[in-house]
Amino acid sequence: MAAGAENPQNAENGRRLKVVLLGPPGAGKGTQAQLLSARLGIPAISTGDMLREAVAAGSELGRRVEGIMAAGKLVDDALMAEVVRDRLAKPDAGSGYLLDGYPRTLPQAKTLEGILEESGQQLDAVVMVDVPVDELVRRSLLRGRADDTEEVIRERQRVYREKTEPLIGYYRERGLLREIDGHRPVDEVTAHMFATLGLGEGVD
Ligand code: AMP
Repeated sequence: MAAGAENPQNAENGRRLKVVLLGPPGAGKGTQAQLLSARLGIPAISTGDMLREAVAAGSELGRRVEGIMAAGKLVDDALMAEVVRDRLAKPDAGSGYLLDGYPRTLPQAKTLEGILEESGQQLDAVVMVDVPVDELVRRSLLRGRADDTEEVIRERQRVYREKTEPLIGYYRERGLLREIDGHRPVDEVTAHMFATLGLGEGVD
């Protein structure tokens, strides 16, 4: 059943969409999440941004994840579950959200499902933005965060293939997967996003 159909308030803000953006590091998920967020009036929740903020603030969480992030590895699932549970409990997430960078492992996908089930909710869609690997490395080097050596960038890609790619099949089996070609100009990718989410503004 279409999530949200039972609540008239959902007519606002694009039906309180709950969408996961999936795809390799550098595919442009963050950019698309920001554009969709502005258009739909729902928050883009980036776990990477949240963790970077924690590192910058020098919080306990930040100290725990700093080295892991710098090495291009994944923060453990239990810690991420706490981070995401807290974030999704905030009032702004009640109007829907775009998740960018979570889930990244099968256990995380199950955690998210559990969090949603507790309030009788489910995801509306998982949008997979894909880009060829050499282009991803090129983009990441261009973006150039201070700690982005080619070695760390390649490690992130490796971790993605090993831990995150299995989520594609997981969500495809659940009928949630939508695939977008991310190797295109940003505005074309955005148009495809809107179209695939049934938000009008399709491409000709
Ligand atoms: P991102 O900006 O999404 O590429 O995330 C930057 C880094 O934060 C990743 O390379 C991981 O070290 C960490 N991170 C972000 N989200 C997650 C997650 N869902 N699970 C584990 N680690 C994460």
